[in-house]
Amino acid sequence: MIIRMKQNITDKEWKNIIRYFEERGLSVKDISGETFKVVGIVGDTSVLTDTDVKSLAGVDEITRIQVPYKKASKVFHPTPTIIKVGNVTIGGGHFTVMAGPCSVETREQIISVAEDVKKSGAQILRGGAYKPRTSPYAFQGLELEGLDLLMEARKETGLPIVTEIQSTDMIERYVKDVDIIQVGARNMQNFHLLKALGKIDKPILLKRGLSATIEEWLMAAEYILAGGNEKVILCERGIRTFEKYTRNTLDLSAVLAVKELSHLPVIVDPSHAAGRWSMVSDLSKAALAVGADGIIVEVHNNPECALCDGAQSLKPEKFDSMMKQLKLIAPIVGKKMQ
Ligand code: PEP
Ligand code: MN
Repeated sequence: MIIRMKQNITDKEWKNIIRYFEERGLSVKDISGETFKVVGIVGDTSVLTDTDVKSLAGVDEITRIQVPYKKASKVFHPTPTIIKVGNVTIGGGHFTVMAGPCSVETREQIISVAEDVKKSGAQILRGGAYKPRTSPYAFQGLELEGLDLLMEARKETGLPIVTEIQSTDMIERYVKDVDIIQVGARNMQNFHLLKALGKIDKPILLKRGLSATIEEWLMAAEYILAGGNEKVILCERGIRTFEKYTRNTLDLSAVLAVKELSHLPVIVDPSHAAGRWSMVSDLSKAALAVGADGIIVEVHNNPECALCDGAQSLKPEKFDSMMKQLKLIAPIVGKKMQ
């Protein structure tokens, strides 16, 4: 961390600042020039918050050299993390496809979609049992019954299941019955939930928050990793911008940024990004081309009547033709598809 002092800094303020860092086991190197008093703080500055340092009298501006996340950072963990879910591999050159309806609605629906997406080559079944809806009057998910139906669909098809968790009181059940626990965009900064998920041994699919920066997203992953759970999969699902034509704006550069900064696998959710099924196939191809480790896609057998997110859900036939195209492209961009 580099700190530029105020020009009128007093001797007392200067000494106080030096003491502040030395008391925290950090050393201070004076690198002042002719006009500005500047110091470099050497050591593990991840324990410092920007606001605390800025509140010291005499401090004008600070610049971080070290990223505030450690376990999520490539600097401290240069090899890519590879996560195994049954015999499915996420990361390490694989392009993993997770697919299924936004929400589990009926037994027939989830089993028929699970069979269809499996036939097309999806490796993991998605489906929401607890739905985070903007309106309290909208369908909230089948909850426990939804989890039971997902388990039935897994039994029928052999596909591992990914589903969203909303509160810590469900962790025990999810650890027992779910293969990947999804943290939704709205809960990306639910630090209480993240800390609890850090203590379990189960892969976590961490979606990017609606307006989260890449650093905030990686800091959210850091909460899980810091607790000891190293199985974190990041998911870019579009961010809120001024644009209204699409539901969100898919930030494909975030995939590249994560690859530069972190060792964690990162997948793309083109469905929630676009909010329109007609864009899902091409955005999935873009995700593959840009180097994502996979996608999570909404597929519904009857999107017109879906209880949630029908407008962005692919029909099984469309999903199938998208998968055929992805399988052709994958080897060209150096990815393996099972
Ligand atoms: C979902 O996956 O159905 C979902 C609600 O996603 P997000 O948290 O990205 O909005
Ligand atoms: Mn959805």
